[in-house]
Amino acid sequence: NEPLSSVDPEIAAVLQNELDRQRNFLEMIASENFVPRAVLESQGSVLTNKYAEGYPGKRYYGGCEFVDVAESLAIERAKKLFGAAYANVQPHSGATANAAVLHAIAQPGDTILGLELAHGGHLTHGMKLNFSGKVYNPVAYGVDPETFLIDMDVVRALAIEHKPTVIIAGWSAYSRQMDFAAFRAIADEVGAKLWVDMAHFAGLVAAGLHPNPVPFADVVSTTVHKTLAGPRSGLILSRDESLAKKLNTAVFPGQQGGPLMHVIAAKATAFKLAMEPEFKERQERTVRGAQILAERLMAADTRAAGVDVLTGGTDVHLVLVDLRTSPLDGQQAEDVLHSVGITVNRNSVPFDPRPPMVTSGLRIGTPALATRGFGDVEFTEVADVIALALMPNPDVSALKARVKVLTEAFPLYPGLEQW
Ligand code: PLP
Repeated sequence: NEPLSSVDPEIAAVLQNELDRQRNFLEMIASENFVPRAVLESQGSVLTNKYAEGYPGKRYYGGCEFVDVAESLAIERAKKLFGAAYANVQPHSGATANAAVLHAIAQPGDTILGLELAHGGHLTHGMKLNFSGKVYNPVAYGVDPETFLIDMDVVRALAIEHKPTVIIAGWSAYSRQMDFAAFRAIADEVGAKLWVDMAHFAGLVAAGLHPNPVPFADVVSTTVHKTLAGPRSGLILSRDESLAKKLNTAVFPGQQGGPLMHVIAAKATAFKLAMEPEFKERQERTVRGAQILAERLMAADTRAAGVDVLTGGTDVHLVLVDLRTSPLDGQQAEDVLHSVGITVNRNSVPFDPRPPMVTSGLRIGTPALATRGFGDVEFTEVADVIALALMPNPDVSALKARVKVLTEAFPLYPGLEQW
């Protein structure tokens, strides 16, 4: 019964250092967020001890009466939040959710058509080293070389040419909304299933700030930990029950053994919070923050320094910074922002002239800072700090001081002394 600090001081120090890092830096990795304390509590609970293979009411283990309540609540809340008739809350992560989706709706060797990884797609949408690229036959659509937008005529032509079993709509790095109705029409035309992976923008969908793919897709998958601000994990939804049995079997026993009941309880809490007005208000600040950042990075001074924004703005929670004509590559830009106290990730731009470990872009997201409480005023200040940091000869210590003012004004997990 000893506390972590005495059982394992080295790991206790990691937890403390990570809490300090999250507090002292401005977190702008687009796929990250800060979960509420209530979610941390569920996740760090005795539910981690429980085996519960199966589904509520149909388990292969005894003693599941309480975890059944947690999973049923998570399922019902997920369905309500997204207007779905079916939900599976067991996937351990976005990647396992996606593996289960393909397992349910395609056979090994079938053709799948998704967004090119280098143009903003995800590994699980057909990358050659991923299961999705090894088990299935991946074909990819890209973005237009001029507009950097997805051209639905190109998607349609590829679908007609390759006759995929599954068409995938969804992205990890794209700053515009996809046209789900157009994807649906193409899927119907070629007899494909439509799978939407809304991992990045699920929080915006929950808040009504982004079209909901559920009515259009055969299956929707998502992570729970990005804009949705829940525990690190996955979720599968469907507009009707027609695929319920296949999807459930694909998750368990197809992909996973025992579900992580502590994480499922935390998902239930996150879905409850996502139905609150405060959640919607936060997602509004998230999108507005990204727009403020995009506008600032397209100003004359940054453009003159070779810094620009792909697609000329954003509709979502992230901005794709284009550094193709900047003397800074993605790695150098990531490093300079780190030196002023801002955490982002470098990202290849489509048709990137620089190698993938270096890149010519940054992906900068606003969800975590919106959760921290940032509004227009603070996002305007952050945008200015980022713009100045990416221009020649930045005054790093002055910019670092401006970041410190912001981190101190918006304390993270106030009142928590240690983890
Ligand atoms: N799908 C998309 C679109 C993603 O962006 C990600 C993660 O970045 C995933 C799936 C995978 O999620 P996880 O990292 O939880 O496996």
